[in-house]
Amino acid sequence: MSFNSLGLPEAIISKLNEYNYTQATFIQQQAIPAVLSKRDVLGIDHTGSGKTLSYVLPILLNMQGCKAQNRHVITLVLVPTRELAAQVNEVFQQFCNVLPQRIKTLAVFGGVSINPQMIQLQGAEVLVATPGRLLELVEQKAVHLSEINTLVLDEADKMLNLGFRDEMEQLFRLVPKVRQNLLFSATMHEGVEGIAKQLLHKPIVASIENSNPPDTDLIKQYAYTVTPDKKGPLLRYLIKTGNMQQVLVFTSSVYQADNVADKLRKNGIDADAIHSKKSQGARTDVLRDFKSGKLRVLVATDLLARGIDIEFLPFVINYELPRSPKDYIHRIGRTGRAENPGEAISLIAHDEEHHFSIIQKKMKKVVEVKDGNAININV
Ligand code: ADP
Ligand code: MG
Repeated sequence: MSFNSLGLPEAIISKLNEYNYTQATFIQQQAIPAVLSKRDVLGIDHTGSGKTLSYVLPILLNMQGCKAQNRHVITLVLVPTRELAAQVNEVFQQFCNVLPQRIKTLAVFGGVSINPQMIQLQGAEVLVATPGRLLELVEQKAVHLSEINTLVLDEADKMLNLGFRDEMEQLFRLVPKVRQNLLFSATMHEGVEGIAKQLLHKPIVASIENSNPPDTDLIKQYAYTVTPDKKGPLLRYLIKTGNMQQVLVFTSSVYQADNVADKLRKNGIDADAIHSKKSQGARTDVLRDFKSGKLRVLVATDLLARGIDIEFLPFVINYELPRSPKDYIHRIGRTGRAENPGEAISLIAHDEEHHFSIIQKKMKKVVEVKDGNAININV
């Protein structure tokens, strides 16, 4: 979809063209009209999907005619890191001078001297800030948040992962009750859901997760019937003989996730688990290792898999089936891509067979089922 149909003025469109941005991304198509209409928005899409412009452009348009009075900023964007603060501020600056009313935007973050920031804050309409430094500036009365009309939480998942929950809570108490709230995140894990409930009022939800049912034709699916005691050995056999270098394995419980990862490691396959009983620090480490390719197998529960921002995985294995057909499609959806179809393999114990047939019916697809017990896994 081109930017023209999103209600953006010509001045913005030609600036976008200067950067060779001609087509709006999914999140931009969804969020730009929603923000322009002053609704609250929950925007979930992968890293690199263009979330920044999806709020920067409509906010600048909504702000035409607003002028900051005496250190009262009008738009506040909270971000987790100083790099991101600088980056987002730069995007605001690229576009703010093409509009009739010039808007002053500023980034503030910790780790540098506070005094220049205090001076520059005079007259700023848009503030892009990390939570800690912002609280310091509020305390010094260098900035007032009581007239904020738009609050943006960008990279909310990362903000929570870095432990900014308390600072965010403090800041939420300083902004007016009635305001527009925009929440963006690459993933929708538990914590983000909590913040969304607390912060957003009747939001428009723009989420890649529920808008794009994956095309299951692109995914090579098959299943093995197998007795429960042979699931572990069969899993190892498939990983080894299939030469799988990066594989996401799903289990239905925390206990099973740990158990499966342990057994894989004991058998010389580099594996780790991610689930809600692990500390946030441990989860972050495991994810980083998996993304970088250092960790070969990640064993996850459905809930935690929602926090994994990896767009494409070559292999997904259902060690146990998910409860709903929707979750099944969600799980395997990460492997389907036109140029590189992945594989989704399910290990089905006898008591899961009925459930698996229901999943296939809902998916309107018959999955090839092989006899896992017949495989000589010792070869
Ligand atoms: P996210 O916040 O979702 O991780 P960003 O907003 O940082 O993603 O954008 C990622 C990159 O994509 C940036 O370099 C940005 O300039 C570029 N980009 C944004 N929108 C478009 C578009 N419509 N077409 C092409 N590139 C875009
Ligand atoms: Mg971003």
